[in-house]
Amino acid sequence: MSQTLEPVLGEATVQELREAVRGEVLTPEEDGYAEAAPVWNGMHAGKRPALVVRCTGPADVIAAVGFARSKDLTVAVRGGGHSVAGFSTVDDGIVIDLGPMRHVRVDAEARRVEVGGGAVWADVDHETQVHGLATTGGLVSTTGVAGFTLGGGIGWLMRKHGLACDNLLGADVVTASGRLVHASATENPELFWGLRGGGGNFGIVTQFEFELHPVGPMVYAGPVFYPADDAAALLRSFREWSPEAPDDITALVSLMTAPPLPVIPEEWHGKKVAALIAASAGPLEQGDGLVSELRAVAEPLADLLGPMPYSVIQSLIDPLWPKGIRAYFKSTNLSGLDDGVVDALCEEHLAAPGPQCEIHVHQMGGAVARVPADTTAFPEREMPFVLNAVTGWHDAAGTDAHVEWARAVVAAAGNAATGRGYSNFQGDEDASELSYGPETYERLVALKDEYDPTNVFSRNQNVRPTDHHA
Ligand SMILES: Cc1cc2nc3c(=O)[nH]c(=O)nc-3n(C[C@H](O)[C@H](O)[C@H](O)COP(=O)(O)OP(=O)(O)OC[C@H]3O[C@@H](n4cnc5c(N)ncnc54)[C@H](O)[C@@H]3O)c2cc1C
Repeated sequence: MSQTLEPVLGEATVQELREAVRGEVLTPEEDGYAEAAPVWNGMHAGKRPALVVRCTGPADVIAAVGFARSKDLTVAVRGGGHSVAGFSTVDDGIVIDLGPMRHVRVDAEARRVEVGGGAVWADVDHETQVHGLATTGGLVSTTGVAGFTLGGGIGWLMRKHGLACDNLLGADVVTASGRLVHASATENPELFWGLRGGGGNFGIVTQFEFELHPVGPMVYAGPVFYPADDAAALLRSFREWSPEAPDDITALVSLMTAPPLPVIPEEWHGKKVAALIAASAGPLEQGDGLVSELRAVAEPLADLLGPMPYSVIQSLIDPLWPKGIRAYFKSTNLSGLDDGVVDALCEEHLAAPGPQCEIHVHQMGGAVARVPADTTAFPEREMPFVLNAVTGWHDAAGTDAHVEWARAVVAAAGNAATGRGYSNFQGDEDASELSYGPETYERLVALKDEYDPTNVFSRNQNVRPTDHHA
């Protein structure tokens, strides 16, 4: 498929744009704008786009891109709206919102699924689980498929089945010049490379196609909570266990504050705890054996690791991360977890400024590490751990303390921090070059020069085209 369409609207007025698209075109004066404008992260929800275009299909997206170019408007593309850095909104620009495009079509026999560019992971799991199938999605089910996959996509199935981007078979993309093209291993392969880790730099994906795997409906998964006093022992055991762990299991240690959930004894609510959270993509009855050694590190204060529906582990922490919460993440890849790093992270844990400050150490490896480095743009696949300082708070006055704390957590990792990392876990803008490292970044720039030489798609971890350096 390759269909050339000139930027369609020229000097069109907003009224002409309305006539050209099927979805809503909302200006600040109109009903619906107040609901349509804000993004998930409360830090960025106050931005006032000049226009929100709620696209219903590729033709609307093409029209919106053409309109934006004719008016020289800054473009913010929105899938699920969960960008931590707030990329999917913009003051005075245009939001091209794919929110209405949430279709999911499963081909159970071929083990494939087509997913609209505005779908969230809950939409995908809902349809695929009917067939006992799944592909790697996020830890929070309201996260958008688009931004998640284009950045890479870290989830519970990754060590068995790869990152979300490793399961991508193809994508329909509206380019900056208004062309609708297909990218796959055989069609526009370099674009396909860049879409898998390079974010939204190269165009607007209107439909994804993913590979599916037999998973669920019941899986062996869930959290085990320990007192914070056991955090260092847990991290050390996690360090020893991780490299030898079978691909079926994917685990994460979270140094956090116990949420006020009925499953946690009340005397622990609001206290600092360490959680081991794991999920197995393998047979239910083998789950216990995969984690028994690790979970025995200390006496848990609550142990919920066991058989549960896949859809439950996929949405377990949704209520803790509602739309409108202020959030900031800071992340780095970790080359190791020596005792110095373990102690430093435990110290930062105790110094956290609020109850929703979490230090996540993701276990990588397995299928993620087996994909050759140059197959996708996702950086440093061989790294054993990803560190992510995750913060959420409600009161604007808490911003500085939370942001500073997250930065201090990453700094505390010292030399174990490679400095590179997963672009979707970066709460700051302009983390692109840093995230990828020079070699991958150079290849991304060459692709950007080809597909978006004037940087129409700049609201992302931006790869700046050669002629557009700031
Ligand atoms: C609560 C929470 C939990 C998270 N958990 C995980 C996790 O478990 N694993 C993980 O890997 N990441 C996780 N993330 C990070 C997440 O992957 C990124 O925030 C991701 O960008 C969200 O995608 P989105 O479509 O919802 O975001 P959006 O804000 O809509 O977009 C993010 C970026 O992608 C671009 N974009 C969006 N849609 C399209 C499209 N259709 N075509 C082209 N570009 C597009 C946007 O312009 C923007 O630059 C989490 C984030 C949050 C807030």
